[in-house]
Amino acid sequence: MLIQLEKNCNNTQLEAITLELRDNGYKVSLVETLNGRYLVCNGSRETDIRHFGNKAGVKDVHVVEDDNKLVSRKWKVKDPEIHFKDGSSVSRNDLTIVMGPCSVENEEQVINTVEFLKENNIGFMRGGIFKPRSSPYSFRGLGIEGLKYFSAHCRANGIKVVTEVMQVSQIEPMYDYVDIYQVGARNSQNYNLLDELGKTDKPVLLKRGMSVTLHELLASAEYIFSNGNENIILCERGIRTFEKSYRNTMDLNAIPYLRDKSHLPVFSDPSHGVGIRNYVGSLALASVMAGADGVMVEIHKCPQRAFSDGDQTLDFYQAGRLIERLRETYRLRKSMAL
Ligand code: PEP
Ligand code: MN
Repeated sequence: MLIQLEKNCNNTQLEAITLELRDNGYKVSLVETLNGRYLVCNGSRETDIRHFGNKAGVKDVHVVEDDNKLVSRKWKVKDPEIHFKDGSSVSRNDLTIVMGPCSVENEEQVINTVEFLKENNIGFMRGGIFKPRSSPYSFRGLGIEGLKYFSAHCRANGIKVVTEVMQVSQIEPMYDYVDIYQVGARNSQNYNLLDELGKTDKPVLLKRGMSVTLHELLASAEYIFSNGNENIILCERGIRTFEKSYRNTMDLNAIPYLRDKSHLPVFSDPSHGVGIRNYVGSLALASVMAGADGVMVEIHKCPQRAFSDGDQTLDFYQAGRLIERLRETYRLRKSMAL
């Protein structure tokens, strides 16, 4: 059961409701976000929800049997939207395209990418400044210094910054320069990091770990929400399977599943999903038809010279063609009411 509290629910009312819920066999957790207050009630006993619905201080009561109640679709009447200060948003009513290099490499690269994004009316640039690499000898990112000019050029051109945060201590120094914190596959279940991101007021793009089930991914999102941050985007980026012909197996099934089970927007990252440049476009389009609310793709002026993930990176010509096709495909999906 999930109880939404009235804004003006006072402590006496809250205590009375909580006590009664506990007497009814529920384990009760109070969650406070910027949008509201909730009582997450875990327990198997059948309760007449009308009883709690009538209590002073209660706004609404929902039967939500899912383990991850706050991110469950079962209680949300309206799909939430993530709003940015410039008036733009991420929602289930539009297709968000995020493009940029795997790693931010230098200022010139940021400038030419921003120019490309602007020409193509793309509002979000991705780029890693803290890079999780399989080898400690590989390029591991420029850190905050790189983020500063990445952010400055984006802001000057009305583009929002999406970049990965790898550990708790980076959240604060990154804060002023970031619009969306990305949690990478390797940190998908780093609960300390998720807890702390739940305490910020910036959206979080939560990637699925390479061996993380969808139930576990929703549990990770529940960590962020239950710490106070409702602005979460789920992102499918491919999983490890027995198939070795490509880097990862893009789990397209995850897209309709997550959209059905959760109210959160669902993005797809076909670059990491398949890991092979020539297949990225098809999987991006397939993701849109599968219901993705956003697509994130790695691009570079000269992929052959990229510091990381060049093999799965599109050049600007390929990216431009893909943007047109993504928009056409999204229109087609809408027209089919899928
Ligand atoms: C990335 O987006 O460059 C990245 C490292 O992704 P993932 O965490 O999905 O591997
Ligand atoms: Mn990458």
